[in-house]
Amino acid sequence: MNLLLHICCGPCAIFPISSLQQKGVSLSGYFYNPNIHPYKEFRRRLRTADEYSKEIGIPMFLDKNYGLIGFLRNVVNNEDNRCSYCYRDRLEKTAQKAKKEGFESFSTTLLYSKYQNHREIRSVCEELSKQYSLHFYYEDFRAGWQAAIDESRERNMYRQPYCGCIYSEQERYDKKFRKNRQKK
Ligand code: SF4
Repeated sequence: MNLLLHICCGPCAIFPISSLQQKGVSLSGYFYNPNIHPYKEFRRRLRTADEYSKEIGIPMFLDKNYGLIGFLRNVVNNEDNRCSYCYRDRLEKTAQKAKKEGFESFSTTLLYSKYQNHREIRSVCEELSKQYSLHFYYEDFRAGWQAAIDESRERNMYRQPYCGCIYSEQERYDKKFRKNRQKK
């Protein structure tokens, strides 16, 4: 099976790549994340993912466009549901890329994170798999949570402190903002 793996960042790619390689899957990575802000943070995560893929010898498609404006246009006035837009946009672009480049299958490192809506990500991927006639490879990559954290530290990789968008950055650092959101 040849598979295109959507990669949200370097540290989250460690376990999924290692698990897929152990199963003999031939894979390439695809960094497409217009949800990462601000610009310096985007560049840093892009660089980390790029360096990691080179170190381990995985071919990687990198979308280097900073997507702040497009992302905001799609979530403004519906900020509470922004993650659904964010998942679908990234996963649909991955399915389209997989189709265009002749991959049989796709998957995503978003299935590694304990902080994401795992069920929703899986369901969007299953839908896209039918829509684009592609195989979706599902695995609960959260099983490798701690091992990959340890490895990313050993490798001195940059580990981001918040999910990605400017809203999640505020939630991470602004206690009052977080409290008000929880009350909603
Ligand atoms: S919190 Fe994370 S998943 Fe949700 S919209 Fe922001 S970057 Fe995307």
